[in-house]
Parts: sequence; C-alpha cells; structure tokens
Amino acid sequence: MKRRAFLKLGTAGSSTLFFPSLVKAAKSVEADVVVVGGGVAGLSAAVAAAQKGMKVVLVEKNRELGGNTWISGGYYSAVNPELQKPMGINDSFELFYEQTLAAGKRKNNPKLARIMCFESLNSVKWLESMGMQFHPIVMESIGALWPRCHKPLLPDGQGFIRTLSGEAYKLGVRLFFNTSLIDLLKNDRGRISGAVLRGSDGKTLLIEATHGVILAAGGFGGNLAMVAQYNPSLKDATTDNVPSVSGEVLKIAARHGVALDDMDQVECLPGCPKGRTLRIRFHVDVPRFVLVDSSGNRFIREDSPRDELRDALLNAPGRIAFTIVDQEGYKSFSSHIQRDAVLGVESGDAFISDTLEGLAEQIRVPPGNLIKTIETYNEGVRLKKDVLGKHETKLLYEIKKPPFWAGIAGITVHSTLGGVRIDENTRCLSDENTVVPGLFAAGEITAGVHGANRVGGNGLLDAVVFGRVAGEKAAQGI
Ligand SMILES: Cc1cc2nc3c(=O)[nH]c(=O)nc-3n(C[C@H](O)[C@H](O)[C@H](O)COP(=O)(O)OP(=O)(O)OC[C@H]3O[C@@H](n4cnc5c(N)ncnc54)[C@H](O)[C@@H]3O)c2cc1C
Repeated sequence: MKRRAFLKLGTAGSSTLFFPSLVKAAKSVEADVVVVGGGVAGLSAAVAAAQKGMKVVLVEKNRELGGNTWISGGYYSAVNPELQKPMGINDSFELFYEQTLAAGKRKNNPKLARIMCFESLNSVKWLESMGMQFHPIVMESIGALWPRCHKPLLPDGQGFIRTLSGEAYKLGVRLFFNTSLIDLLKNDRGRISGAVLRGSDGKTLLIEATHGVILAAGGFGGNLAMVAQYNPSLKDATTDNVPSVSGEVLKIAARHGVALDDMDQVECLPGCPKGRTLRIRFHVDVPRFVLVDSSGNRFIREDSPRDELRDALLNAPGRIAFTIVDQEGYKSFSSHIQRDAVLGVESGDAFISDTLEGLAEQIRVPPGNLIKTIETYNEGVRLKKDVLGKHETKLLYEIKKPPFWAGIAGITVHSTLGGVRIDENTRCLSDENTVVPGLFAAGEITAGVHGANRVGGNGLLDAVVFGRVAGEKAAQGI
C-alpha cells in the first residue's frame, strides 16, 4: 500500500465500538492485511496474502507461534492417489466429500465442505512447494473414516508451523508476539479497517489494514467455562487444547455484527479424566487399538465417528475407558506418543504388563473378561469379521505381542466446531447473511465446515485450505 493512501485513511476516520479512547491514544502501524493468530490457519493466510504482494502483519497472543496446531497429531486428510493407489486404497474427492457431510450429520455448509475436500490435494502440493514433508504413506487416525491421513515427517504439528513460518519470514510478513486482539476498527463507510491490540506490557497498538483483517484465532476449547456455557453436558470434561485458544475473538466478532453458529458442537476424544493432565494417545491409529470399559468389554467400534465415540464415553460407567495395544502397536507410534506412555506408567495414566491378566489387575477390570475380549477381537481380525462391526479394512493387527499396554481414556474436549459464520470467500457474515466488509476468518474459529462432527484429519486441512482462501481474498480487497 502507498504511504499516501494510508495517511489519507488515517486513524481519524476509524472508530471502535468498545475502546474509543484507545483510537486516539495508541501508536499505529500500517499494513495491507492483518492476521490474528499464529496457528496453521493464520500462517497460511499470511503467506497467501504475502504471495499476492500484500504487506502483512500477523499478531499472536503467545510468545511463540503454534497454537493448537503445534501440539496436534499432525494428521492431514487429503485424497492423494499417488500415495493411496500403491497401498491398494481407492479414494475420490466425491467419497471424501460425502463422508464429511455424513459425519457432520449434514449440518455442514455443503459449499464450504466441498471446497475443503476438493482442494485437499492442492493444499498438500502447496505445502510441499514450501518444503513441507510427509511420510510416503497414508493412515487412518481416530474418526478419520478412511485411510487418507498424511503424516508429517516432523513430530505432531510442528512441520506445518516450521514450513509456513519460514515462508512467511522469506516473504517479509511482520510478526508481533505477546500481542492480543482486543477490538476491531471500523471506518466511516462501515468497513472493518484495522485491529486494536494490547501487548503483554499493557500498551495498546492500532494497525490500520487497507485490505482486511483475517481472524484466525482458533476455537474456544482452551476455555472450559465457555465450552460448558454452550454445552453443559461437558462441564466435567478436561481439555487437550492450549490455554490461549480461549474464544475472546469470537466475542469481538459478535460485537461487530458477525453471526456465531453451532457453538454447542464440541468434538471430544479419549483423553485425561478430571484431575489428570497426561494424555495417553494409543487411540491415534484405528487398526492398532481396542477400547474397553471398566468391565473389560468393548462397547463401541473403534472406527466410529467421533461424536458417537464421545457419546459412548459419556455413557460409560464412571466416564472412563481404557485403550489397549500390544508391543507391536506401541512400537508403531511416534516417539512423542511412546514418551508419554512411559511417563504415564510412572504417573498412573498408563499401564504395562507381560500378560493380559496382569494388565487387567492393574486397571482393575475382571481378568477373564479382558482376556475373552482380546481373544474374540483377535479371532475377528483373523476372520475379517468383528463382533461389533469394525470394518474389515481396519481389522489388520491382532493384539498378541507382549508386553501389553493400557491407557486411561476419559473424555477430553478436542475441538470446537462452532464459530463465526463465513461464506465461500471466507468473508464474515451477519445473522442476516450480509457481508461484514473487510473482515475474514479461517480455521477453527469458523463454523459450518464440519457440521455436527469433524472427520479426523480435517481440522488442519480446513485451516490450511481456508487460511489460503482468506489470504487471497483479502488481497483482492473484496
Ligand atoms: C491435541 C490436539 C491434537 C489434534 N490433532 C489433530 C490432527 O492430528 N489432525 C487435525 O486435522 N486436527 C487436529 N487437531 C485440531 C487442529 O489442531 C486444529 O483444528 C487446528 O490446529 C486449528 O488451527 P488454527 O490455526 O485455526 O488454530 P490454532 O492453531 O489453535 O491457532 C490459533 C492461534 O490464535 C492465537 N490467539 C487466540 N486468541 C488471540 C488473540 N486475542 N489475539 C491474538 N492471537 C490470538 C492463539 O494463541 C493461537 O496461537 C488437534 C487438536 C488438538 C488440541
């Protein structure tokens, strides 16, 4: 943007709904596009806008980039025949789209779901063009419903952040850390024209954005009070989210006339029960584990959609279950998952024994039941016919190589599926579906893509695909 144009717009023509005095008092910075949030959605948006020649500022509340993306499993859904065909996996964009809608109970915005699914391979190629590396296989993470999850070479979600932040750096994106969005600026034509920010030193900063502000501040899964406010059935749940993903940006958007949808739709996974903090992740690879309740019996197919797993866990006695794997399963997991399991044995969150009987005694389930459950499951694997109906393509591994492992599986909040309403161009919309000009959003802060239930591996995909759309559309100044 030209300096003269910025001066003409100036801060004098802007207003903020809640902090009018700040507009006059604060120091201001110029930008074409301001991105709020330094997870994968914000970084994708920042890179995409900078690739279009925009002067971009990204603000992040924490002292480092990453958000939930950094600690995520990194599983990334995409149709990719080059990897899937050699593994004998048939897939198509249509199948992916249909599964995404069916899993979401068709409460998804079909246009958004379609863009995400059909852009999945392009998004992999886009990431790879910047140096992102994936293992040359696909797998099926919990609730993913099909083997199409790409697994980054770097642990967890680190590869996305390292790749995109490197590119952002090359493109000259300016990063502000320890800086939170507290309000939005609006010009006298009613367009969102910038951001009001507060640093951890308490100082206020204004950034005027000629082309737009992109909200990519994640969901509200780190704020359990807000989760319970919208979904009281989860009042005793723990969370696996980072604390900074706390939902205040949703409230700021709502104050500026943006509709919030599906706020009660919260995805949960096996995780820490109340009072515990270490999460044992034996559930990440669907063919590798079985889930048993406190009587030692399986109570749901492990390849069920995530909402069904959540509801089954909520109804299990004591809201507790156990994930069981054998040593082959343990060896197949990433070093971070193995590390947590070893720590878990010390802290009482995981258990290990040379026999199933010994394992049953440790987790206090009737040994005869657990042994019978595993024998029946193994027979199902051999016959490719599971008593609970786990699909034959996931009946790959018997649980038979000692030592045997168990992880405590309570109910933990994993992602929030509701948030700000957007259109296909990621423009924020009001309750009446009118565009809130100048304001865009992408990633977990948005509603509509996943409907009532998210397919495993679609969270990161959603954030990359729509982060990129947001950056490009903001650059067009629409
Ligand atoms: C433990 C865990 C494992 C997961 N595993 C997977 C997986 O394997 N595959 C998958 O697809 N999905 C997974 N998910 C979900 C996925 O990680 C998220 O959906 C995705 O990372 C969201 O990206 P985002 O950029 O929208 O948000 P985030 O990555 O959470 O980034 C949001 C950023 O905004 C910042 N922020 C918040 N408020 C403000 C503010 N006021 N001002 C400035 N900055 C602010 C936050 O500090 C944060 O850094 C997992 C989630 C968790 C918690």
